[in-house]
Amino acid sequence: MNLNAAVKVISVDPLCPDRAILAQAGEMIRQGRLVAFPTETVYGLGADGLSAPAVRRIFVAKGRPADNPLILHIASLNDLPRVACQVPSSAYALAERFWPGPLTLILPRNKTVPAEVSAGLDTVAVRIPAHRVALALINAGRTPIAAPSANRAGRPSPTTAAHVLHDLGERIDLLLDGGETDVGVESTVLDLTVTPPCLLRPGGITIEELKQVIGRVDLIGVEKTDSGPARSPGLKYRHYAPQTPLLLVSGAEMVAKIIALIAQYQGEGRRVGVLAGEENSNYYKEADYLVIIGRRADLLQIAKNLFAGLRRLDAAGMDVLVAEIFDEQGIGVAIMNRLRKAASEII
Ligand code: AMP
Ligand code: MG
Repeated sequence: MNLNAAVKVISVDPLCPDRAILAQAGEMIRQGRLVAFPTETVYGLGADGLSAPAVRRIFVAKGRPADNPLILHIASLNDLPRVACQVPSSAYALAERFWPGPLTLILPRNKTVPAEVSAGLDTVAVRIPAHRVALALINAGRTPIAAPSANRAGRPSPTTAAHVLHDLGERIDLLLDGGETDVGVESTVLDLTVTPPCLLRPGGITIEELKQVIGRVDLIGVEKTDSGPARSPGLKYRHYAPQTPLLLVSGAEMVAKIIALIAQYQGEGRRVGVLAGEENSNYYKEADYLVIIGRRADLLQIAKNLFAGLRRLDAAGMDVLVAEIFDEQGIGVAIMNRLRKAASEII
């Protein structure tokens, strides 16, 4: 990777990060600076989560609306009481099963956490990430790290260091390049301050997995995003969206509809990009640009490649993008949630 004039990019071994590099990165966190780093879900834009000025820099760098709260990343369960209070036993049961991992819990906020982190809410979002670079950074910084996804607000989340550089290059102080992220979609967000616990964002941990541990999970937070009041402020914004208009095509006739759309748009002189699964790739040969993000039968692979696929299509100079829908099972719930929010139209 090229060194950007403004941001320092350092490659780190994702399995065995160099201690001296991480010590330097941790020092920058303590100085209130912005460090982008890999997690198992997507790249995060990190700052000292207990410093209000540092946290405010995250919002400025991303262009993130001030009412969209951040997730605090901790490295050990021992740090949970530092950031949350009145932690219910269900949180410990979930932590035991899924941490480190892509599950974010909403808990009552400890007042030592600046209000900026939570966008003024009296709750806080917290998780332990399952990535050695992320954990090493939190330990080296000796503080919880507030980190949203390291993209410009509204854009697809970054799954490689190159994506971060593209979106935020001149706006951050350090970028730790630990290669491609594993899960590819963000963490599941679960609100434990209500009964029953309420799913606010589907993600890397599936609803079925949550139910195995805590029984009932209310899905109203996800289902209400387009109509009723948003329980999680960030859910009301358009997200993950390429700059090129994206049409999401559903229904039993999906393949036939996409083939017809390609012909129709091209007839209007417009260049068409298609995002699809491998099984259908032969049908879309007429597309001006075709991005295959994995086998439709392998939703983990689709999730991993989804955001990179959207970014590739956006960079290809097309006039319009058309995407397949995917099976809404397991991590497919998260995939479809992201695609719906990325789409300018669903047919
Ligand atoms: P990001 O880190 O960019 O993936 O975004 C974090 C997500 O967690 C957003 O959807 C936020 O709205 C949500 N979130 C963070 N803190 C809270 C909170 N205290 N209550 C509800 N949702 C939250
Ligand atoms: Mg985000």
